[in-house]
Amino acid sequence: MPPSLDPACLLIDGAWTPAEDGRQRAVVNPFDSSTLAAVAEASEADTDRAVRAARSAFDEGSWARAPSAHRAGVLTATADALQSQREQLARLETLDTGKTLAESRMDVDDATAVLRYYAALVTSDAGRTIDTGRPDAISRVVHEPVGVCALITPWNYPLLQIVWKLAPALAAGNTVVAKPSEVTPLTTIRLFRLLQAELEQAGAPGGTANLVLGGGAVGAALARHPAVDLVSFTGGLATGRSVMRAAADTVKKVALELGGKNPNIVFADADLDAALDFALTAAFLHSGQVCSAGSRLLLHRSLHADFTAELARRADLIRLGDGLDKGTETGPLVSAEHRRKVEDHIAGALAAGAVLRAGGSRPTEPELQAGFFPRPTVLDGCHPGMAVIREEVFGPVLTVELFDDEDEVVALANDTPYGLAGAVWTQDTGRGERVASRLRLGTVWINDYHPYVPQAEWGGFKQSGTGRELGPSGLREYQESKHIWRTITPAAQHWFGG
Ligand code: NDP
Repeated sequence: MPPSLDPACLLIDGAWTPAEDGRQRAVVNPFDSSTLAAVAEASEADTDRAVRAARSAFDEGSWARAPSAHRAGVLTATADALQSQREQLARLETLDTGKTLAESRMDVDDATAVLRYYAALVTSDAGRTIDTGRPDAISRVVHEPVGVCALITPWNYPLLQIVWKLAPALAAGNTVVAKPSEVTPLTTIRLFRLLQAELEQAGAPGGTANLVLGGGAVGAALARHPAVDLVSFTGGLATGRSVMRAAADTVKKVALELGGKNPNIVFADADLDAALDFALTAAFLHSGQVCSAGSRLLLHRSLHADFTAELARRADLIRLGDGLDKGTETGPLVSAEHRRKVEDHIAGALAAGAVLRAGGSRPTEPELQAGFFPRPTVLDGCHPGMAVIREEVFGPVLTVELFDDEDEVVALANDTPYGLAGAVWTQDTGRGERVASRLRLGTVWINDYHPYVPQAEWGGFKQSGTGRELGPSGLREYQESKHIWRTITPAAQHWFGG
């Protein structure tokens, strides 16, 4: 089912439009390299128009100052619209990213839940009253929108990532310019079609939500644009640094969700069946293209031989294929270029002394040759001196390191520039809690891997980012706090005698 797409797919000031210079870019299915669609490629002039539209819509004030229930109504209606197109959206996400249909359906459901969560949260967000200690003065803190927000998202969870930003940004009363990855823009375009219909119905100004498409140049133009007040960026560490630098000139607010090098720690007393099963899911779900992927397995030394042998056996059995096929367990990487990077990481690790236990090459099945597949790979004998332990691979590559005791594993797990997520497996409750509290990570799972809920904050310590998405903090990212003090019966103080 190739998606039909109108090349007029930039949304600027309430109108769907092609790029002003007519440029387009092909979007490719990573399973078979076929062209799915051609989409508009915004120029710097298109990007500037989108930002100016968002600026006028914000400054006009009717969206920012509308009752929060009005904005919440738009989010709820968009959530309903997403659910009514659940299957079409899930198929589109699978075609564009290569992930399995089951994962794509979960993404649509999670995106819906996040829209509903922020619709509910913003309507109960009344600020707070402060006790001034004076009967003639009232003091309160209220929350107001920041202004024009640029929302820049990566290719691995296109629909989910844009909703994590869009829902709180719009709920708070901001106007937005979104830029998805050039590699996987299709579900974001579909989402904005649904959203724009609801914004029009609600009488919102034309430039409330804008969408520009294109590569890094478009993202960079947004990050440095003087009329943008906030940049929320999810992507790689190097790009995150350049966004922060570009934002510095006009002191924009910056929220960064960057990568991770996430430890998955298995103690000898763990439920080993569950730990092994989740070690595979942690590392190989969506071919490892998950910021929180459990790509570093830290194994108690006593488990080494049996656990790694079984891990390698089961990694070899993972069924690769078309995400649309029921039997597929994981799909391809997103692009040929990204597969080359993953293969370079594997070659580098082997040259540095890692021992190959599974994978390490491309699959040989004829039906997989047109897709960007590597085999799920297990590398044993790894240590923190290796680049593969310190740098994010973002592919189906699981490294194995050994430890002897609690102190050692905490030190190993914390010894990277990242601090996004990780897990600890043990049946000793005290140990689980102790280790969780010592890990410098934004999320720690005890005896689980990957679950999240919209109510709980998501984000990283250290170089995994700044700020948080989801939860109440996810709304605060898009709000300014304002203190309003009112003296009821003003009287001269005569501080100065004259
Ligand atoms: P990139 O950093 O390459 O790109 C992210 C987004 O930024 C894309 O839209 C990209 O455009 C855009 N971009 C590229 N260059 C610039 C620039 N100079 N200024 C502004 N924007 C720019 O990341 P990937 O798309 O490769 O995504 C993978 C990365 O994202 C991984 O490192 C992963 O860990 C991280 N990630 C983090 C998550 C988290 O929650 N912490 C969640 C998901 C992913 P384009 O793609 O069109 O070039």
